[in-house]
Amino acid sequence: MERKEFQAESKRLLELMIHSIYTHKEIFLREILSNASDAIDKLCYRSLTDEQVGMKREDFAITIRPDQEARTLTVSDNGIGMNDTDLEQNLGVIASSGTFQFRQELDKDAESDVIGQFGVGFYSAFMVADHITVVTRKYGDEQGWRWESDGVEGYTIEPCRKDTVGTDIIMHLKADEEPEEYSQYLQEHTLQRLVKKYSDYIRFPIRMEMTRS
Ligand code: ADP
Ligand code: MG
Repeated sequence: MERKEFQAESKRLLELMIHSIYTHKEIFLREILSNASDAIDKLCYRSLTDEQVGMKREDFAITIRPDQEARTLTVSDNGIGMNDTDLEQNLGVIASSGTFQFRQELDKDAESDVIGQFGVGFYSAFMVADHITVVTRKYGDEQGWRWESDGVEGYTIEPCRKDTVGTDIIMHLKADEEPEEYSQYLQEHTLQRLVKKYSDYIRFPIRMEMTRS
């Protein structure tokens, strides 16, 4: 397993996210849900012409799974997934148009304006998480891949087992400095409120799986 560095510009964005004092950190969920939805769109579209996919529109869904004990919030989709090259190209660099705009704004504006205004993408999860694991398997592949990062130090990619096609984004939440600062994202009512707020454009069901101890 090899540790890889983020590209310089990705690093800057990451630093900003990790140390963000932005008051609407909750938008990370919008970004993660929209990525899950995009990934499902891709496989769903493909299923229209490719019988091999073997899935109907109603088979696609996003699952949100908070785990109080592990202090993780997992967002899973059964979309197109990623292989090792995809992981490197998509999560190692700033590629998206939204994030690109953000990057340009970074030089001149206060973070509040910037984060609120643009889709800041996957890295926004580092506003609430100190460790992110992505476990994913691309449609058509047998091999799964695990991407892990604590933020600026870089990331690792290694093969792993994954039984189903799609992606799990596992966010280990930061320690609370104020009461419920990050723990709130493990609470059913907060998650329900955020899903309602940020699921306008998502055309697939979003399910919540609570683990009760
Ligand atoms: P954007 O969504 O604007 O492209 P993001 O930073 O949100 O930027 O995501 C970067 C890329 O990572 C996406 O374009 C996509 O290729 C990949 N990605 C992120 N989440 C997922 C996911 N759940 N399934 C498949 N690919 C994903
Ligand atoms: Mg996105």
